[in-house]
Amino acid sequence: MRLTNQVRIETDEEILDKLGYATNKLWNTANYLTRQKYEKDKTFLWYFDYCKQLKNNFWYKQLPSQTAQAILQKLDGSYRSWLKLRKSNEKAHIPGFRKKNSIFIIPVKYQQLQYIKEDSLLRMPLSKRFREENKIQNKFLFLKLLFPLKWNGKIKYVELFKRNNKWLASITVEITEPKRTESSKSMSIDLGIKNLATCFTPGKSIIYKGSEVLAVQRYFNKEIAKTDKTLSTQEKDRSKKLTILHSKKKKQTKHAIHSLSKSIIAFAKENNIGKILLGDIRNIRKDKHFNKNSSQKLHSWLFGQLTQQLEYKAELAGIQILKVSERGTSRTCSGCGIIRKANRKYRGLYVCNNCNLKINADINGAINIYKMYQGINEPVVAAMAQPVVVQLWNKHNWMRQNSSKGRNLAL
Ligand SMILES: [Zn+2]
Repeated sequence: MRLTNQVRIETDEEILDKLGYATNKLWNTANYLTRQKYEKDKTFLWYFDYCKQLKNNFWYKQLPSQTAQAILQKLDGSYRSWLKLRKSNEKAHIPGFRKKNSIFIIPVKYQQLQYIKEDSLLRMPLSKRFREENKIQNKFLFLKLLFPLKWNGKIKYVELFKRNNKWLASITVEITEPKRTESSKSMSIDLGIKNLATCFTPGKSIIYKGSEVLAVQRYFNKEIAKTDKTLSTQEKDRSKKLTILHSKKKKQTKHAIHSLSKSIIAFAKENNIGKILLGDIRNIRKDKHFNKNSSQKLHSWLFGQLTQQLEYKAELAGIQILKVSERGTSRTCSGCGIIRKANRKYRGLYVCNNCNLKINADINGAINIYKMYQGINEPVVAAMAQPVVVQLWNKHNWMRQNSSKGRNLAL
């Protein structure tokens, strides 16, 4: 699997600025040529045409050849996807020109690079022409990575880009697939809003409550509204206070979601789980708590992030993860299998009129997901979900809830 690191770099910024400028110029030159060709005879130029026509071009020569090629490949790809898109969407935008103030992105192929791990250095070549013109002796440019890579593996692709006046490297590495655990044990996860995640494996359940994470959201929403009220329209655009509040809100939510996915995978490892059955998030829209809240966008974002993180963290832990449909799992009784519309009766409690089962509604859902994908028809008794551990977010960590409330099935 491939994972991408983003790291600040320290280097001769003047050189990178010049190279960045050249990448934009080369892109625009090639783009101009293909547009002209199109006007003339309604056909486009492609990668090999670009290379042929531009190999002696000034901007091409400024760049290391593989970087120049990578830019032309990218333009080729942009035209191909645009033509494809245009079939279904007339308004699709033709690949544009890079403007004076557009950000610099310098692609660097791994064949050009050397990674000197001990010194956290990346070494990339400079073109002969560029060195001559700028009177640079060294054949190479060294990029010092200011932070250790989060993901280590074989480097496959690097892009250097400038954001907020700082140069960064986006480094994609290939990680050897971790060995799959051989355990045949499964765990199911039901995602929701009241309880963000409810995990079930026979003999144990764990519930991650959403209330504290949503409280963080509510707190910041209130502060943002308060600040917003006091500002005039012009002030809003450049209010630092608003920007800070928004970024704090995002940062704290992200932190909670990262800790959550980490904790779930740790729980799975502790219990020797080989396969995770993850309920599909599309079902969350039907959650009655969903519509009450106006921040649907936030919830979609939050569950998108959580799903993504669970997927790669499971894979890194050697656990197989399957996204599964939750259809009907919240209405079905995990005890007797009867499907009823109005079975969810008390706050968060599922009560079955047929077999008198009383169980936390989300655990009921998680058990049903488990049963559905294990091909189990016989009832899973509620006792199999015991003991139930409840986790609360305390703004730093997910912590076990220590109160008698934990024994209440409704939770
Ligand atoms: Zn029942």
